[in-house]
Amino acid sequence: KRVGFALVGIGKLTAEELIPAARTSEHAYIAALVTSEEDKGEAFARAFGLTEADVYTYDEFGKLADRDDVEAVYIVLPNSLHREYTERAAKMGKHVLCEKPLSVSTQDAQAMVDACREADVRLMTAYRCQYTPEHWAARDAVQSGKLGKVKLMDSIHVQVQQDPEAWRLKKTLAGGGPLVDVGIYCLNILRFVTGQEPEWVFAAEHQPEGDPRFKEVEESTSVMLGFPGGLIANFLTSYGAMKTTTLRVMGEEGSLLMDPAFPYDGLKLKITDSEGTHEPSFPEYDQFALEFDHFAQSIRTGQQPWTPGEEGVQDHVIMDAIFESARSGKRVDLGATAGKDATR
Ligand code: NAD
Repeated sequence: KRVGFALVGIGKLTAEELIPAARTSEHAYIAALVTSEEDKGEAFARAFGLTEADVYTYDEFGKLADRDDVEAVYIVLPNSLHREYTERAAKMGKHVLCEKPLSVSTQDAQAMVDACREADVRLMTAYRCQYTPEHWAARDAVQSGKLGKVKLMDSIHVQVQQDPEAWRLKKTLAGGGPLVDVGIYCLNILRFVTGQEPEWVFAAEHQPEGDPRFKEVEESTSVMLGFPGGLIANFLTSYGAMKTTTLRVMGEEGSLLMDPAFPYDGLKLKITDSEGTHEPSFPEYDQFALEFDHFAQSIRTGQQPWTPGEEGVQDHVIMDAIFESARSGKRVDLGATAGKDATR
């Protein structure tokens, strides 16, 4: 039996990616929508293949408790609202798939993990790149030793943010600037590809004066991460430059480049090893359908999802250290960080 989801928040991602993806999902379907008063209506419901009775306002969120067919919610709201809706969903016994970043602080993210554990519901952080064959091939190339000992890595996720009124530029709603929104892809994938946790971070950021977009958050951040064994990784993130998304790994006996690395489709991977340079190809897929299917199956089997809430908490712990380093100008040691076991 497929798992019924309520999508909470109907912005660009929900309308353009998640609803079409759910239609192709094998194990999940959309049973309800939660949105604002203005959006609620028959025409709106019909456009998404539901009836008016399946569309709820945010005030009516608690009514999902009566909907046995809604087993999970997918939270696609501004970051500062993730905690409140996760906690409310957990109390209703609904499983929670939550968009990245998990929240706006380590403390809030940890509270979400605790709430779901207490309610005995699954919590998954929607790290779509941990479900693509390209990122798995990059991880396999690194962890199989095919590239020799890996010495250096770098990653970029930058894009232009035009609208000074966007919630992404408001500190309380977003929790930070490009680091928490797009830089988090670099951080998360560097950890995923190595299967290791950074031991220290060193960062610098720039917040231009006089630009109305960057009154509250930084425009650009440059981060250095020190992984075990002397492996150094750098990443760049910004809201001020044309879209670029890359991942590069350099080892003693080979290298790999993914460019682009983080769009919804069209990822390109090039691996150079002792056999030469090759570009593996993969069957077509929809990243969001893969994510829906994975979470639905983890609900059915009662197993933890591959990217549980703890995985989101771990990135918050590291992002806190990045902000601290940028503020102090000093390297910050992470020590034994909270979060997930790095040896999986
Ligand atoms: P969006 O601005 O397009 O949509 C946000 C939705 O939240 C809208 O429906 C809006 O009406 C609603 N909302 C409720 N309360 C609000 C408030 N106080 N202020 C503003 N909007 C409010 O945002 P989005 O791009 O869909 O992002 C939502 C979440 O999804 C964020 O956590 C974001 O990081 C994440 N996201 C993930 C990906 C991905 O590839 N995984 C891509 C885009 C966004």
